[in-house]
Amino acid sequence: MGNRNLLVVKIVAFTLMLVAILWAGMEFYHHRNFAETVVLGEGVTAVKKLSDYYPAMKDSINDCNIYIFEGKEPGGTLMVIGGSHPEEPAANLTAELLVETAKVEAGRLIVAIRANRSASTVTRPGDAYPQYYRIPTPWGEKQYRMGDRWTNPLDSWPDPEVYVHYPSRQMLAYMDVRNFNRTWPGYPGGTLTERTNFAFMELIRAENVDVFVDLHEAELEYPVISTIVAHQKGTHVAAMTSMMLTATEFRIGMEYSPESLHGLSHREVGDHSQAVSYLLETPEPMLDRVRGVTDEHMLLSGKDPFVQMAGRYGLLYEKIDDDGWPIDVRVGRHASTVLELAQSWSDLNFGKVIKISGVPRYPEIVENGVGYYFVNPETVPSHRLAYE
Ligand SMILES: [Zn+2]
Repeated sequence: MGNRNLLVVKIVAFTLMLVAILWAGMEFYHHRNFAETVVLGEGVTAVKKLSDYYPAMKDSINDCNIYIFEGKEPGGTLMVIGGSHPEEPAANLTAELLVETAKVEAGRLIVAIRANRSASTVTRPGDAYPQYYRIPTPWGEKQYRMGDRWTNPLDSWPDPEVYVHYPSRQMLAYMDVRNFNRTWPGYPGGTLTERTNFAFMELIRAENVDVFVDLHEAELEYPVISTIVAHQKGTHVAAMTSMMLTATEFRIGMEYSPESLHGLSHREVGDHSQAVSYLLETPEPMLDRVRGVTDEHMLLSGKDPFVQMAGRYGLLYEKIDDDGWPIDVRVGRHASTVLELAQSWSDLNFGKVIKISGVPRYPEIVENGVGYYFVNPETVPSHRLAYE
């Protein structure tokens, strides 16, 4: 090949590379800046910011919305967060369902939909994750950012060689310094993720939260699944919730938060505040390592031939059949579990009753689909809209 031909090949290769970089860059930019619309249900009495509780969070990407529902009568305070791990969509969808439908008769409800916003602005390109997913509603499709388990490296970099958890000094994997559910109770002088957890702890203490619920999803290869993980202060309420739901709607277990495993919400929120802490897990086949094509369809249908085959060989901790684990089943489980926890808490704490109405439960959500309950943003005035 002559020098001239070589130059042409180099110019063509460089141009193709430039096009690929610009194309991908535009997609990443659009994903990072895509705003999800939330319609404030009539029960929402105020929308605050996380920085209202810890001003150092102001103007950071993790200064998320905090939705407040002040009840008609006094009582206890329930806080629910979604988006700890934004690759677990049943969590943020359930939190949004609460914001759009809940009415509080007694006590107070506090909700965060995107607890770790930064982690919802990046997916896992190396795992070929979809960037978005869409939920069908009676008025069209509602679009959401798919996210990752870890805070976006654009917002938190570099990672240490070893992550030393504060204050226990337990050593954890390096990338878990960006894992919102390994950095509780947070540290004001730490990384963005540690500072975000600290801000949430300030909120929990300032608002006198009684019951704290952290929503998650788990792979079927993982033993902590279809369960309520309970801090030791809250085992009675969790046991009652597990019994009631298993008798009436679906099977759900209960397990104790290990006392020496640090950084997780079910351990640290209970240890470092007055609140009783719980973490809920539903099955999400997309998180399984043995899965096949990782697309929006798998994300929403919860069906995958490889995970289903693993199930037939008895290699999983949760059953899976031809129906898979659709998103409506997963959101339905979370919605009913949150409502039942509030009910069981109220039954055992007469002075701090939390009474919530308006939120659909498992059978209705499975029947109608979660999108049925989302209101068309074009039909409400702009002051009743929020963006995530
Ligand atoms: Zn999780």
